[in-house]
Amino acid sequence: MIPRRASYRDIPLYAPSKRPCRVDLSDNTNLFGVPPSVERVLTSCVSAVPRYPQGYAPELRRALATCIGAEPEAVTTGCGSDDIIDSALRAFLEPGDTLAFQDPTFVMVPMFAKVNGLNAVPVPLAPDFDVDADALLATGAKVIYLCSPNNPTGTALSRAAVERVVDGAPGIVVIDEAYADFSPGKAFLELARSRRNVLVTRTFSKAFGLAGLRVGWGVGSPELVAEVEKARGPYKLTGVAEAVAVSVLTDDADWVRDRAAAAVACRERLRGELTALGLSPLPSEANFLMVPLPGAQAVAERMRERSVNVRAFQGLTGVGDALRVGVGPWPLMETALAALRESLR
Ligand SMILES: *Cc1c(COP(=O)(O)O)cnc(C)c1O
Repeated sequence: MIPRRASYRDIPLYAPSKRPCRVDLSDNTNLFGVPPSVERVLTSCVSAVPRYPQGYAPELRRALATCIGAEPEAVTTGCGSDDIIDSALRAFLEPGDTLAFQDPTFVMVPMFAKVNGLNAVPVPLAPDFDVDADALLATGAKVIYLCSPNNPTGTALSRAAVERVVDGAPGIVVIDEAYADFSPGKAFLELARSRRNVLVTRTFSKAFGLAGLRVGWGVGSPELVAEVEKARGPYKLTGVAEAVAVSVLTDDADWVRDRAAAAVACRERLRGELTALGLSPLPSEANFLMVPLPGAQAVAERMRERSVNVRAFQGLTGVGDALRVGVGPWPLMETALAALRESLR
């Protein structure tokens, strides 16, 4: 008999439907190709592969700090921003403590709560998809998780509501900004610089086109960041991933910005087409659209039979059933629209 941790019994392995599909719009990654410097850097770091990397990714930390005008001690990195969120929960909460988070949000958050033995308290977003600051604060949670623009709704939070949460929180506020590069509004990064209780997380997995390398980063006060680094531990970023991330950040900034702008343009064009089909996508500041649609699961299954993969959600708080459609170059969107039209019948 394998000794099992009782609280892990009903934790499923992460398994989004990933049947190979010609057009995969299910995970919000960059569908516009590979950043130009990646191949060169991959070749040049081959000789470093037999040795361990530096423990805490100092080159990437420095490059990110320069980029945002902060000191390196205010920046942390990880094996995806997932790793940073998970490490922050371990750093600031003991098993049994409460984690409050907006609902709906990133599906990994309740999973991380479970894995870390936390009491997960989802707090519904307001009808306009802004965060309900008073309800979140009323939980008394030592860590509050916010996400803007939010996955899976695509909607952004208001500055007033986020500042209310930050100012009233008894502990740490994590603000997940995985999609900030697609959002026209001023992001919340500056709150991580001006307040001691805010950790903002960002990722190279979406706009930066490096999902396969697993690179995330976070910003906060140095004393907060130091605790996250302890919980995360060393060597979570491979030397290869670190080198590529530094190069995409410094050499490919134009590529990233232009592709993000293209994604936003395709998103709005897609919104028009979906509206013409009688659907009502939620307002999005990310590289995907959430489309409320009763029976979304069955529609997604029929789309998959037509080799287009979109993510279906069932019974989301305040939304109901919905499809989440990632945005990429327009020809992919046309294929998706054709599959959707046939699947709606
Ligand atoms: C995709 C996504 C992430 C990124 O996760 P990585 O581990 O950096 O790949 C984080 N938060 C949200 C809300 C996301 O949608």
